[in-house]
Amino acid sequence: MQSYSEFFINGQWLTPASQATIDVYNPANNKVCARVPAANNEDVDKAIAAAYQAFPAWSGTKSGQRRQFILAIADEMQNRFDDLVAAISDSMGCPRELTKDIQVQGSIDAFRAFADMTSFVDEYSSKDGVMECKSAVGVCVLINPWNYPLSQLVGKLGPALATGSTVVVKPAEQTPLQDIILAEIIEKVGLPAGVFNLITGYGNQIGERLCSHPFVDMVSFTGSTAAGIKVAESAASTVKRVCQELGGKSPFIITPDADLEAAVRYGVEDVMLNSGQTCCALTRMLVPASKYQQVVTLAKQVAEENTVGDPLDADSTMGPLSSKLQQQRVLQYIKSGIEEGATLVTGGTYIPEQLSEGAYVMPTIFADVTNDMKIAREEIFGPVLCIIAYQNIDQAISIANDTDYGLSSSVYAGDSKSALKIARQIRAGQCYIQGSYFNTSAPFGGFKQSGNGREWGEEGLREFIEIQSIITD
Ligand code: NAD
Repeated sequence: MQSYSEFFINGQWLTPASQATIDVYNPANNKVCARVPAANNEDVDKAIAAAYQAFPAWSGTKSGQRRQFILAIADEMQNRFDDLVAAISDSMGCPRELTKDIQVQGSIDAFRAFADMTSFVDEYSSKDGVMECKSAVGVCVLINPWNYPLSQLVGKLGPALATGSTVVVKPAEQTPLQDIILAEIIEKVGLPAGVFNLITGYGNQIGERLCSHPFVDMVSFTGSTAAGIKVAESAASTVKRVCQELGGKSPFIITPDADLEAAVRYGVEDVMLNSGQTCCALTRMLVPASKYQQVVTLAKQVAEENTVGDPLDADSTMGPLSSKLQQQRVLQYIKSGIEEGATLVTGGTYIPEQLSEGAYVMPTIFADVTNDMKIAREEIFGPVLCIIAYQNIDQAISIANDTDYGLSSSVYAGDSKSALKIARQIRAGQCYIQGSYFNTSAPFGGFKQSGNGREWGEEGLREFIEIQSIITD
């Protein structure tokens, strides 16, 4: 078991003021795999003070210098590739082979891309006696969940460093290990002291202090809608900028003339990826009533192709959920689907004997779902797909938009032009058409209760920028 006893604050490893610790569990066997300190408010204050002191010098660096630091960090992440894979897979259960691809390499590449964006903050315009300039936003608190812990970190850290802000990072209590590795990397490359500060701790204990501290200019939060609301409330009294990347219940419209086999495969694979723990997962599949039975048969087939098993096993396509708690939450939703009258097509609450120690849930598909059922309205965050029938496209669009969320969506139609026409009528921050995949150049964020603000792409950089107008005459 790995044991860590310090926080990375002001360029040093510091003994916490708090004596409390957090046990990190491996969800494949429910055994403790690491122990980290749990910060208290005194630790929070130290980390924020370090970021505050470092801000003037860091925001004054040349963009070329920040670029070099980002590249050096990315190179070192590549050197620590295996450590990052193990840290993520052991703490949240994603199979190692899959972790390499979807959790680590993609994150390194995405982080490296921010090196080419450091001069964005230097750009200005001058028109009609007004010079419009950009400044770094300031001290940023970055709070993340456990499902794609490295990707979520670099999606915030990249633009913060690129534009000249300083940060205090707080990973999810379940997955602190990759952030600790990143702090080691940052120490090694010699990023100026105080630019990056890491504390580990429970959000419900230190979240209020992190998000209300007067030295903090911005909170960038990814997590549940419930916690996101608390973050915004804590930040309100000091008028901070708050970027919230929250939950989803994303619709996937398949039209009658779509390539049914390709569309269903795409939709089922999307939901089962990372054991269903993806905020933008297309968990409501909307299909024409005329093709309903065909879709259900295909979906069952694709879901059952998965090999659910030990993350260390190269054959596993799905590992456990991130924790026993998450497993119980998801199983409750499955029970509620059955009670509400949906038809269980595959999966369910049964867990094979050899997987009983871990937090496993089998790939689950419900048919005969109506959009008013709990399983169609609430984010389950597990490998559970709801198939809903529609009579015509207008009804499909209306069902797609009948949700409190608006994070992502997808359309598979006979051709791209008709898919695009439907996409533009969906109230969601992203729409994937004709089987397209996540792209870190595309701004990502939610309409409605899925959040505020955007990550990735140029819009993601803008979140970390203040505009200053210089009026010249
Ligand atoms: P969570 O909200 O419980 O925790 C997320 C983070 O918030 C953790 O670091 C936690 O410690 C912290 N936190 C909890 N209470 C807090 C408070 N009062 N103040 C400040 N911080 C607090 O979410 P989770 O269960 O870890 O993650 C799953 C959720 O994250 C899902 O709802 C999922 O949709 C969402 N998510 C959204 C995105 C996105 O980009 N939109 C991406 C991934 C996950």
